[in-house]
Amino acid sequence: MTTMKIAILAGDGIGPEIVAQAVRVLDVLKTDGLGIALEHGLIGGCAVDATGEPYPEATHKLATHADAMLLGAVGGPKYDSLPRAQRPERGLLAIRKALNLFANLRPAILYPELADASSLKPEVVAGLDILIVRELTGDIYFGEPRGIEERNGQRVGFNTMIYNESEIQRIAHVAFQAAQKRNRKLCSIDKMNVLECTQLWRDVVEEVGKEYPDVTLSHMLVDNAAMQLVRDPKQFDVVVTGNMFGDILSDEASMLTGSIGMLPSASLDSNNKGLYEPIHGSAPDIAGKNIANPLATILSVAMMMRYTFNQESAAQRIENAVKKVLAQGFRTSDIASPGMRIIGTREMGDAVLSNM
Ligand code: NAD
Repeated sequence: MTTMKIAILAGDGIGPEIVAQAVRVLDVLKTDGLGIALEHGLIGGCAVDATGEPYPEATHKLATHADAMLLGAVGGPKYDSLPRAQRPERGLLAIRKALNLFANLRPAILYPELADASSLKPEVVAGLDILIVRELTGDIYFGEPRGIEERNGQRVGFNTMIYNESEIQRIAHVAFQAAQKRNRKLCSIDKMNVLECTQLWRDVVEEVGKEYPDVTLSHMLVDNAAMQLVRDPKQFDVVVTGNMFGDILSDEASMLTGSIGMLPSASLDSNNKGLYEPIHGSAPDIAGKNIANPLATILSVAMMMRYTFNQESAAQRIENAVKKVLAQGFRTSDIASPGMRIIGTREMGDAVLSNM
């Protein structure tokens, strides 16, 4: 069996604490026979401290040679006054861009035991399990021309929404293949009634869909999608959309679950090499206290096994262990309801390990 080369980038704040628990999960998989080699690197504020740059060359080399990267989080108040180019968050943008990680996968899962954490009625969200696939390197966020300039005596701000066929094709393939690994339903979100760019989006997604007859494809306008996500989110399985709509809808979907410490994410290139990270930040307010929830990071390892390494049984083993831990009533403070037993970061890692 080939060895899975994984770069570990713990980052700042709670990053090192939560990543340590995810590394214990990787160690179990290794002990049980998977070929896994880990190498650690610096990104974000800790990299600025050590080298003056948030994404140093050594980290770029490490990431280039790895098959997958596991990242904790970056940033913290200590770095807020640095010049923009040295901010920790720049490290994150730099690694995504340098490795061409164009496909952002964000599951929004609400475990039945945590249904109270959502601001929506439990019957609307309990058991929610959707996956948002967002294009990450194109669209109006990168389109040219852009700027603010003076025209006819007043300032004008402008951006360009642009996608070419191949950009749409590659994200559509990722989404269809993700749907094949789930419930084989894909909903593509656009605004084709107003925007030509997204008319092309719809046409190309339709064309790519012919290669995936086992997946049921539907389309929805983005304004309706925003409504449907809060009205009846369980109608969705996999959702695919462009960079800007995906930015908004993926945050909306993650908030349906109400538990930021539970949600993993993946950013993939066209060979399924990926950067895996929790969706939350470095939580400086609770760093170093052994109270952060490590489950989003542990679930990021499950996504890594599924999407980069095609190890579905390892992915399910981790996800099932997390489900059991929740069913057994273990909670970190961010997901606890009154009367529940609250445990720390490391103890949550222990609980997951003992259920694997
Ligand atoms: P945050 O996600 O770090 O924290 C928001 C709130 O959620 C805080 O109260 C925090 O304690 C809590 N929280 C987050 N993760 C948790 C966990 N695993 N367990 C328990 N509670 C958790 O967002 P913020 O406070 O807006 O940002 C803090 C820093 O993180 C900033 O420097 C920001 O730029 C950075 N940030 C980094 C990333 C990333 O690395 N991908 C993402 C978002 C923010």
